[in-house]
Amino acid sequence: MKGRLEVATRRAWEILCHFLWPSTCPVCGRLGTVGCPTCLDGLLVGMQDRCLECGGGPFPCGIASHVSFIRTGTWHEGKARDVVHLAKYSGRRKLAFEMGKALARLYHEDRGSVLVPVPLHRDSLRPYNQAECLARGMATEWGATVLSGLEWTRSVHSQVGRNAFERRALPRGAFLWREVQVETPVLLVDDVFTTGTTLLRASEALSLAGVPLKGAYCWAMSPLETLSVQWRADAVHV
Ligand SMILES: [Zn+2]
Ligand SMILES: [Zn+2]
Repeated sequence: MKGRLEVATRRAWEILCHFLWPSTCPVCGRLGTVGCPTCLDGLLVGMQDRCLECGGGPFPCGIASHVSFIRTGTWHEGKARDVVHLAKYSGRRKLAFEMGKALARLYHEDRGSVLVPVPLHRDSLRPYNQAECLARGMATEWGATVLSGLEWTRSVHSQVGRNAFERRALPRGAFLWREVQVETPVLLVDDVFTTGTTLLRASEALSLAGVPLKGAYCWAMSPLETLSVQWRADAVHV
């Protein structure tokens, strides 16, 4: 009886929350939450690290000067892809924040990291940067700092609809670092890793400014545009 009462009370609370703050978990449909932590955790499988300088090859890659990794939570497909689109195009910035927390729970990075989100394109009309929301969620989980110091130096059309070759053609000098000097190695943050060119150009801007880079975190990795489809066999479960 007590159990049924608890279930009924929780359900009533969820319905009330739904009317006060209309949102549902995009995975299980639960009312009154932007995304259950367990549902978001369940979307992440843990992936093998990639080399940032090589644009996504194995890491460590064997080239001594290549020391920065790309770490992703899952493949950009199915529900994991759906939540990215919701966080990006449906105004659900809190969902992106919760996704960042889930990614941070998967990878337990050292506390005190400095997270640098990839900025929105200059011409973007979106009211918020989903990569920054992800970074803020990660920072909350890790006790880290977010520094939004990267800027695009030119207008670049949205990557949506562009093919892999066009995306890789992003010119050098596409970003500029406008923040203070940072001594501790920073971590780049973006929502989806596709060809790796954006992260590479961002890393070049940091390098030019003398900001050390440790690696990059992305919620998901695109399975369609990676350089080698065989990498899919590398997924490791943690
Ligand atoms: Zn859920
Ligand atoms: Zn490499």
